[in-house]
Amino acid sequence: MTRMEILKYPDERLRQVAERVTVFDEHLAELAYKMIDLMHEKKGIGLAAPQVGESIRLIVVSPSGKPGDDYVLVNPEVAPLSGTETCEEGCLSFPGIYAPVQRPNKIFRRAQNLTGERVEFEAEGLMARIIMHECDHLNGVLFIDRLSLDDILPINSKLRELERRKKM
Ligand code: ZN
Repeated sequence: MTRMEILKYPDERLRQVAERVTVFDEHLAELAYKMIDLMHEKKGIGLAAPQVGESIRLIVVSPSGKPGDDYVLVNPEVAPLSGTETCEEGCLSFPGIYAPVQRPNKIFRRAQNLTGERVEFEAEGLMARIIMHECDHLNGVLFIDRLSLDDILPINSKLRELERRKKM
């Protein structure tokens, strides 16, 4: 595998719907561990495989941002359970851009681990938020899609800046 890089908005690959994982082998594990290292290197708390150009349903999450406190979710599915909360969110594909996003406060989630075993649990607060943000990436949805017009306006010039940089 060549050096892994994080794709930046407006890369079209961030808009693809990712494929389900059907093979649980050492390549999958290697990709997950590389993503975990890259997430920590970039001071992130979550990363989805499509952000590194791999269009598969794999996400890694580290709610505390501390190496070792990492979760790998394969083929994750989430259902909202209760409440909504609005929190400032960022994304490694949008360097320097933050905006308030409203999401459910508590979710039920089902996924598989690296060996294909099914894991189910409830998550709330920050953990729930990261999982929903990363699951959005698997469907080609970006956090800016979830902003109200009022919240898009303050970051609009930064978004245009990223779009310009891409064309150069
Ligand atoms: Zn993101």
